Amino acid sequence: MNKDKLIVANWKMNFLYNNASIFCKKISSKRKSIKNKFIICPPTALISKLSLRFNKITFGAQDCHYEKFGAFTGDNSAAMLKNINCKYIITGHSERRKFYNENNVILKKKIKSIINANLVPIFCIGEDISVKRKGNTKKHLLNQLINVLPKNNKKKIVIAYEPIWAIGSGKTPKIEEIEEINLYIKSVIRKINTNYKNTKILYGGSVNKENSKIFLNNNNVNGLLVGGSSLDFNTFYSILSYKIL
Ligand code: PEP
Repeated sequence: MNKDKLIVANWKMNFLYNNASIFCKKISSKRKSIKNKFIICPPTALISKLSLRFNKITFGAQDCHYEKFGAFTGDNSAAMLKNINCKYIITGHSERRKFYNENNVILKKKIKSIINANLVPIFCIGEDISVKRKGNTKKHLLNQLINVLPKNNKKKIVIAYEPIWAIGSGKTPKIEEIEEINLYIKSVIRKINTNYKNTKILYGGSVNKENSKIFLNNNNVNGLLVGGSSLDFNTFYSILSYKIL
């Protein structure tokens, strides 16, 4: 059961190659004691060099363009990320939604392009604090899911529930609230497409060494998306090596 949890490191725009490779070297040397499946999502500029050197680590990207090729200066397609050994692509992260105005229409195309490239999308959804205060969290998540997820897809996807107010803030929902939301997400996506019935629903937002144990011990939290705590090797390693009771 332990092996079923998926832990994703979102490094965001951090590390130069030297520090990133020191981190990966340490993780590689500890692989036998790591209890959970994990993925590292470095900045795109570092992925090809890291994935060539550390071919036992699973790497993912933090974003992609929805077209395969074209005049999109600065962008990378899912096919290109696959070409440098990515297996997963995070999409719909709240920072992309906020700083690049990514919306349901764009995200629907991105998810389709990731699936078409035979990669797994890690689709981030979550409410901001005003939506939460108004009691509209489920309505908000329903909108994000129903308007983006493909109805006839047979390939694997991953969902990350990341309340925006919890990201980088040191605040998290209670485990009971996360569980209720994850069960809600499961019920919604199963109705969108029965193939999604075994989809992993991760939690993300201010995960640390202590609270990760509570989250990982819950059967309805299938893993974690970790931002800040994935940048410190000892912290991330202790999350990865936690053995579920
Ligand atoms: C994130 O940005 O995906 C995230 C979960 O960040 P943090 O863990 O730092 O809150």
